[in-house]
Amino acid sequence: MANFPIAEFENQRTPFYFYDIELLRNTLNVIKEHSNRPDYHVHYAIKANVNAVVLEEIRKAGLGVDCVSGGEVEAALNAGFEANKIVFAGVGKSDWEIELGLEHDIACFNVESLPELEIIQEIASKMGKVARVALRVNPNVDAHTHHYITTGLAENKFGINLEKLDEIIEKAMMMTNVELQGLHFHIGSQITITEPFKVLCEKVNALQAKYAEKGVTFKSINVGGGLGIDYDNPDENPIPDFKGYFETFKNYLKLNEGQELHFELGRSIVGQCGSLITRVLYVKEGTEKKFAIVDAGFTELIRPALYEAHHNIENLTSDGEVEKYDVVGPICESSDCFGKEEMLPKMRRGDIVALRSAGAYGEIMASQYNCRKLPKSIYKM
Ligand SMILES: *Cc1c(COP(=O)(O)O)cnc(C)c1O
Repeated sequence: MANFPIAEFENQRTPFYFYDIELLRNTLNVIKEHSNRPDYHVHYAIKANVNAVVLEEIRKAGLGVDCVSGGEVEAALNAGFEANKIVFAGVGKSDWEIELGLEHDIACFNVESLPELEIIQEIASKMGKVARVALRVNPNVDAHTHHYITTGLAENKFGINLEKLDEIIEKAMMMTNVELQGLHFHIGSQITITEPFKVLCEKVNALQAKYAEKGVTFKSINVGGGLGIDYDNPDENPIPDFKGYFETFKNYLKLNEGQELHFELGRSIVGQCGSLITRVLYVKEGTEKKFAIVDAGFTELIRPALYEAHHNIENLTSDGEVEKYDVVGPICESSDCFGKEEMLPKMRRGDIVALRSAGAYGEIMASQYNCRKLPKSIYKM
């Protein structure tokens, strides 16, 4: 069990997020160690978590940012990230979002369709700007992850299909206010095996070879994010295998002389440093089951309800005999359940419970449904 400052938790109103900033810092150091090459550029996928203390740590580590909305571009700029390290993806960029990116001269728009490219050209021309763009290619790679978080299959809404790519590259190269920088890929999330990344490298190599023959070369390749974390064993594996991850690209991706390689990691950076801390309100004995009703619900952590995700549940204040519980929240929806048939030490009213590995897509997805308050956070620095 992780070393939580339980005495500090006792005085706090639950639920709240707890961030182990020391672990985040160690994680960032491992990333820096294994991506320490002048041609590698790591961007933090800010949609995973925009907590100010977390962002400050990531900014200090020198990472760039990957955004998927104008609001995220603003959040990144407000947190002090430099515009020339911001890349901006998303299937549906609004005009104001494109204008915002151009106004601040962000590093790159990751463009997902021809109509989007044409609108970027039009807006950039009106503003007297040149938009740097990468084309987001849908490489048709199966990431072998949950179907809600695969993004690189032909049937997904993301990116440009391979058959359409020739035409769009040609058009992009003719545009006066668009500078084609490279190709962008992102095949999915919570990928815990190497294979999909290897297949991605092979696809990229084939594409680069094909276009080199036509005399088209790219300044940069962006392979997106998607590296997973160990939700089942957060204490054994607090830091993902970044060494193996970066080595896969080093070994299998053929970069041209001077070509940049960009990464966009979200979950793997912030996932393990966050926990949602909650209290047991009531233990209810059903006819078939025992329910531990906690004061956090899917309003604070929606991943279980949204993707059938499971976060390890730990009772931090009980060492009673282990019993079987369904751990549920107070929200008026049956999907408001954090775990079924969990084996936990005897749950009592007032016990403090941690939902582990909640740093990514946790706090940022919190809602005010049922007029609940957004969760606060506390930190171990
Ligand atoms: C969500 C997203 C990422 C980050 O994904 P993780 O699985 O959190 O690493 C990277 N790039 C794009 C374009 C994304 O949409």
